[in-house]
Amino acid sequence: MSPVSRGSKNMTTMEITLENAEKVKRKATLDHRNISETINIILNEYFDKLDFIDDLFPYLEIDYVGKENAVIKDRSQKKLVDLEFNGEHLTCLDDSSVDCEHTKFLWMSFQISKIKPDGKKIDS
Ligand SMILES: [Zn+2]
Repeated sequence: MSPVSRGSKNMTTMEITLENAEKVKRKATLDHRNISETINIILNEYFDKLDFIDDLFPYLEIDYVGKENAVIKDRSQKKLVDLEFNGEHLTCLDDSSVDCEHTKFLWMSFQISKIKPDGKKIDS
């Protein structure tokens, strides 16, 4: 990355995959923005979301996310918590809940998209 001053902002160049470049171009066109603005908005939203989640649940951390299950480290209870996805509900096996802080934390995470049970749909 080599820094370049542009107006009052310091900028840099980065390489991204062609697949992502095409996605960014499509989003920029839909949002009526240029590509650099679009990339910076996406990155700001990403890091803001991470900060938001960390502010809400500073003691939770994702340990593993698979196609139908996940494990979360709960430092407040000093244990690992298992979660399962049955195609409709994400269930916490620690408290048998579909609406505890562990399930909320995982639904909010970016890693939730890794959960893809075979042949099942969330909104069926
Ligand atoms: Zn739970």
